[in-house]
Amino acid sequence: AAKAPILSVNNIEVIYDHVILVLKGVSLHVPEGGIVALLGANGAGKTTTLKAVSNLLGAERGDVTKGTILFKGERVESRSPNELVRRGCIQVMEGRHCFGHLTIEENLLTGAFTRRDGGAAIRRDLELVYTYFPRLKERRQSQAGYTSGGEQQMCAIGRALMSKPQMILLDEPSMGLAPQLVEEIFEIVKQLNVNEGVSFLLAEQNTNMALKYASYGYILESGRVVLDGEAAGLRENEDVKEFYLGVG
Ligand code: ATP
Repeated sequence: AAKAPILSVNNIEVIYDHVILVLKGVSLHVPEGGIVALLGANGAGKTTTLKAVSNLLGAERGDVTKGTILFKGERVESRSPNELVRRGCIQVMEGRHCFGHLTIEENLLTGAFTRRDGGAAIRRDLELVYTYFPRLKERRQSQAGYTSGGEQQMCAIGRALMSKPQMILLDEPSMGLAPQLVEEIFEIVKQLNVNEGVSFLLAEQNTNMALKYASYGYILESGRVVLDGEAAGLRENEDVKEFYLGVG
């Protein structure tokens, strides 16, 4: 039987600046414990979809003007980003956004800001992050701004883990990274999914890689889902092959 969705986006519309209609009725579902890929070209609306879920559109003058978003069965369209993090859903933004002047370890610790449990539990989770990302442990005293792009991406994911999420909205983790490093990061995502039960909604232009790790995918074009299905089926789909595979 199909698992209940941890995240359901139902027919949402998003408008920027009261006039620019960017999402024109997007629906998608992430099953509990799943990895779902959100695919599409630059500008299709992937980032906007993730920000609608995590409530980060306000800073960009964007509004969800139609539709509903349910996380763990509860409506979340009007929650603050921090409240969503406390409920277990966190976004890792495109472009990584580490604090360049802080060390890797300080960056990771900032990820625990919404937690109310004590220092010992946070220490334990820091060690857990280091077991998944041994590179971060090696670099923990380095200023994040001087680490590599791959290390900064790992740091951004590690920092998100420090909030003890059940779901991570991961925006374009492959951006600007060498293929081998992309694979390394996706392998860790898979381990986090299997071992820690973290669900992922993964926005990617790298269709090939995303469909290797996700079990289901949605393809966005100009703010609409034009195709969705099991990852294996999408990899064999002629349109997907022609327009999306071999690109990334
Ligand atoms: P990318 O790979 O660049 O992140 P994307 O699929 O995530 O692409 P979005 O960033 O969601 O796409 O952008 C979707 C559309 O919304 C684009 O046409 C973009 O120009 C527009 N857009 C994004 N942010 C804003 C904003 N703050 N104000 C107005 N329009 C915006």
